[in-house]
Amino acid sequence: MLRFAPSPTGDMHIGNLRVALFNYIVSKQKKEDLIVRIEDTDKERNIEGKDKEILAILDLFGIEYSQVLYQSENFRFHAAMALQLLHEKKAFSCFCSPDWLEKKREESKANKKAYRYDDACANLPAELVIDNMNPFTIRIKKPESTIMIHDHIKGDVTFEPNDVDSFIIMRQDKTPTYNFACAVDDMLSDISLVIRGEDHMTNTPKQDLIRTSLNYEKKIEYAHLPIILNDDGKKMSKRDDASSVKWLLEEGFLPSAISNYLVLMGNKPPKEIFTLSEAIEWFSLETISKSPARFDMTMLRHINNEHLKLLENKELSRYVGFADEEIGKLAKVYLEEASTTKELRAKIEAIFGEKATSEEFQKEINTMRAVIKAAPYFDAYDDFKNHIMKESGLKGKLFFKPLRLILTGAEHGPDVAEVYKYLKNYIGEIVK
Ligand code: GLU
Repeated sequence: MLRFAPSPTGDMHIGNLRVALFNYIVSKQKKEDLIVRIEDTDKERNIEGKDKEILAILDLFGIEYSQVLYQSENFRFHAAMALQLLHEKKAFSCFCSPDWLEKKREESKANKKAYRYDDACANLPAELVIDNMNPFTIRIKKPESTIMIHDHIKGDVTFEPNDVDSFIIMRQDKTPTYNFACAVDDMLSDISLVIRGEDHMTNTPKQDLIRTSLNYEKKIEYAHLPIILNDDGKKMSKRDDASSVKWLLEEGFLPSAISNYLVLMGNKPPKEIFTLSEAIEWFSLETISKSPARFDMTMLRHINNEHLKLLENKELSRYVGFADEEIGKLAKVYLEEASTTKELRAKIEAIFGEKATSEEFQKEINTMRAVIKAAPYFDAYDDFKNHIMKESGLKGKLFFKPLRLILTGAEHGPDVAEVYKYLKNYIGEIVK
């Protein structure tokens, strides 16, 4: 079983989507189910409705899953397992107050040392624990030896006991911390492989320790994906528009192209343009680069352009507000200068919309418009052109420039003869 475990705390980031895609592809390869676990334990940061938004995005991208779980529904198991660890003395109650811990943290910082819990409460006498009415957290005891994690992308990574530390698994309000809830839930769902972002790498030995302490023998495999960098070489964050899946969709990037790009990034696929089902045939976690991948908008635009070319004409026409094969073909002509559905729509709208006036050619435009309105239907562009030329008496630049402006609403663009092929049935609508 694989899982995608988003937190409903913000817009879906392309890094999250990349994790979801990889989980989906590998689940198909392994013929194992993929579940979605909404990690909603941080009540303060949860945003109402984000869970539904994330699921809708997964659907849009064709990422199939067998079940949706909410982490908060497992609270009773988290509490029961924390108690088990307390009974077995693998965890202990910690009465250190948040202020005290903060002071210790500040001290370490001042001494330029990494903060570690000093295990002050690790061996308190049982009577003292029972009599003590102060609020407490539950900490798991740090491991006794080195923990080694085999990662499909990073290779073998080792962690020393002090790096893992005796960390908190239950907060004072008796809710589980992220690491505890996550480790327990992965165990309860019988997860075989965790694919997630590399920002979680340091959590992995902690989660491994939790399960080992609970006597869970199965070793979960891991693959931590390198972070995605922006143009400045910094980690892509909310401040980068392109990091938001919603933004990319609104800008007119196709789900198939975004998926293609996110799988291609930092990878060596056998070809550049592919579908998710093709990726299932050759994808391998082992070939993903260990170093961060840089987000390249030019490449994404190129891939989007190629995916737009692959769309059925009628489907493409829907993206630009029509349901007509011919408009789909017309949109394909415009792919020589547009790479997103939003840009294509702007081109098509310029054709059908109100035309801006032209200082240079207004007189010619008025003459030509009257001629076109009175003209019969011509199937061939040459016949149309010859007729309008003859009737208007215009020629050269004074003919071609106004003609392009009247037909396309733009000064430059694809060959008018090519455009006419697909617009000839709409002349009446265009030249109002
Ligand atoms: N909820 C975590 C996140 O959104 C993912 C945790 C995990 O995959 O283990 O980053």
